[in-house]
Amino acid sequence: MGNILNLNNKKGWIELITGCMFAGKTEEFIKRLRRYQYANQNIIVFKPSIDDRYGEKEIFSHSRMNIEAIPVSSSTELKKIFNERNTTKKIDVLGIDEVQFLDDDIVILLEEFASNGVIIVASGLDKDFKNNPFKNVDKLLVTAEYVDKLTSICSKCGGNGTRTQRIINGVPASANSPLIDIAANEKYESRCRHCFEEPK
Ligand SMILES: [Zn+2]
Repeated sequence: MGNILNLNNKKGWIELITGCMFAGKTEEFIKRLRRYQYANQNIIVFKPSIDDRYGEKEIFSHSRMNIEAIPVSSSTELKKIFNERNTTKKIDVLGIDEVQFLDDDIVILLEEFASNGVIIVASGLDKDFKNNPFKNVDKLLVTAEYVDKLTSICSKCGGNGTRTQRIINGVPASANSPLIDIAANEKYESRCRHCFEEPK
């Protein structure tokens, strides 16, 4: 994303970073939060506790960039922690990674925070492996002030990767395989529109 040109002197908005897997969303997410941090903004970062790929209290990108993050299991828990911290020292920026894995109420909550002067940096997948819109991200695509849709490189043809192909035992996963299964030993590939195989 380029620099946000904020012509409004009132603070509080939503920035969404989205796209398929391997598009560099997490790097962009961490980079942007660090940028606010360097500007002495008080930041707080959350991640759904379902996502514990690398460590409990941090978010890592594929290139091993990292930032501290508080794992939460629900939007209610996130709100509670935010309010406690906000009482001690006013929070300027809230980061939330993998926003598609939280419950639906997160969208309303982020809207509320942004309207009350908090800068929201949200990151999440726009589509699941069946190419259907992912919850929360679908709504944030509409309500966010700033949207960056990142793309990857198609693993088949080198074209513009916009979709995530889930591979189980060397073949595209069937449509009825469970949507969220982070721990499973399976593989994901980025694919373009043309090389993506619709799960059956
Ligand atoms: Zn392709």
